[in-house]
Amino acid sequence: MGYNAAPLEKLIEEFGKFPGIGRKGATRMAYQVLSMDKEEALDFARAIEEAHTKIHRCRVCQNFTEDEICAICTGEARDHSVICVVENPRDVTAFERTREYRGLYHVLHGLISPMDGVGAEQLCIKELLARLEGVDEVVIATNPDVEGEATAVYLWRLLSPMGIRVSRIAHGVPV
Ligand code: ZN
Repeated sequence: MGYNAAPLEKLIEEFGKFPGIGRKGATRMAYQVLSMDKEEALDFARAIEEAHTKIHRCRVCQNFTEDEICAICTGEARDHSVICVVENPRDVTAFERTREYRGLYHVLHGLISPMDGVGAEQLCIKELLARLEGVDEVVIATNPDVEGEATAVYLWRLLSPMGIRVSRIAHGVPV
């Protein structure tokens, strides 16, 4: 590995943290940043800073928002008796794109994965339990893989005895 100036090496290291970006890709991205003019590069850095400063989790559904409570949770046209449980904020975007679902969401920020040492207590499940008043149905929309199924079964066991109807969809298709 050739000699790189320390700040360049640092940049390569940071880009290398992105999923699926190896050393080669990270190096290409770092050089791309250096080829920008200064204003463009600083805009890029500011965009990262601004996203991290302004965006946080909705106090209710845990989705990313600029507000304390997001527009979906406060939406008067939404059906507040149904909550769709998803793994991450990207899933909410995907569901919203279909424009067919009118209920609310809850973002777990992960899935139960014994292999990776991720237990239920590391997910946003207590936040879900805290908002079940007036909720009739919880739709679990995790992926149909091992972690998604384990999480769905866990939630079903937790919520069913509470008198909540628990249903399961995978990839937006009823199962
Ligand atoms: Zn929300």
